Amino acid sequence: APVQRTIYRNEPTASIVSEKDRVRVIVRIRPMIERELENQNDPQTVLRCEGESSIIAEGGQHNRRFTFDNVFDERSTQEEVFRYSGIKRLVDLAIEGYVTTCFAYGQTGSGKTHTMVGPGGAAIFRMDENYRTKNFGIAPRAINYLFQRLREKTQETNSPYYIRVAYCEIYNEQIRDLIRPENPDNLQVRGSIQDGFYVENLYQTYIETIDELLTILEEGELNRAMASHHLNDTSSRSHAMLSIQIEQDLQDYDDSQQQITRQGKLTFVDLAGSEKVKVSHSKGKQLVETNNINKSLLTLGTCISALSDPNKLNGHVPYRESKLTRLLADSLGGHGVTLMIACISPSSLCENESLSTLRYANRAKNIENAPLVKTDSKENVINRLKLEVRKLKDENYEL
Ligand code: ADP
Ligand code: MG
Repeated sequence: APVQRTIYRNEPTASIVSEKDRVRVIVRIRPMIERELENQNDPQTVLRCEGESSIIAEGGQHNRRFTFDNVFDERSTQEEVFRYSGIKRLVDLAIEGYVTTCFAYGQTGSGKTHTMVGPGGAAIFRMDENYRTKNFGIAPRAINYLFQRLREKTQETNSPYYIRVAYCEIYNEQIRDLIRPENPDNLQVRGSIQDGFYVENLYQTYIETIDELLTILEEGELNRAMASHHLNDTSSRSHAMLSIQIEQDLQDYDDSQQQITRQGKLTFVDLAGSEKVKVSHSKGKQLVETNNINKSLLTLGTCISALSDPNKLNGHVPYRESKLTRLLADSLGGHGVTLMIACISPSSLCENESLSTLRYANRAKNIENAPLVKTDSKENVINRLKLEVRKLKDENYEL
């Protein structure tokens, strides 16, 4: 008999951050897809939600229970996931100057892109307004909320906000610019654990309207899909990062002569599929691919393990070992605020990968960050931008 759906949820909106802020972990189970339903042998659900925070894995002798900050079952809508995910809190904090990250983890086909962008990724942008409103994923909804909040805030403080956007993908430990695909593929990660890491020479564009931002998201998704067509399904093996930098110039509290710039950031990461790639069949280029993709994702796993249990690796977190983990250093055990969305299929066909995702998510929820607002003197910000412009000119990029 169908189970009555009773879900009481708290909407996490409080934007006050204490000294420690645990990584928030939510799990979404997608509906079975055709292939799974047609699996005549065993079209079974092996994972189900219980209440608003438990997932029960049914197996053999006994069931296993996993608990998270929130869980979403097959019937959850995009609007519900957006509302109760905690993403609004991240947007509010990014406006206040925190570095915030929302990442989606799970095997290929588990619903990461559906949850982050919408059904079919770039395809949703070609649908009509009604469809989009109903089916947009977390990123476009968060962007909408961001602009709404900025309008309200600007009226309160009368100090304008500046928004810069960058979009890239990490594939084979190479960083590809998704806004300017003609940009070379060997972009480097610079910076330090202390000051944060960034992608050098990654194209960043100032935007003023929500439509400009949505266009970038759409074009990025298209560029991602295009590469995957040529390069043998990269989209399931690449990590896509959309970064929205939110800056505001303020008077320094201590020194009214000094202007400071508050630099918050909201990053969405659609991670590569978490499934193990069968190495035995890999040859030549394929093999390199496998190793490198594993490098970023494996290092992410190692970092999460080390952070969730300080006894592991004697407290050493190997952020430096991959591009992905350097760029995510602040989000994991650093000064950022983080939301992880783990996506799983309910089907018995995916049981092992789903359990592995749940264990991964279970470790991530132990990670504590120590959030700090990022500010910089206005002069420093301007100088850094000038330097970047000069570099770009030197290398003959079109600006
Ligand atoms: P991933 O990005 O993890 O590889 P996708 O987001 O592309 O997975 O999802 C795989 C398929 O399942 C797509 O056809 C997608 O539309 C569908 N799907 C995923 N999540 C849901 C959901 N919550 N509701 C309905 N369909 C979904
Ligand atoms: Mg995807």
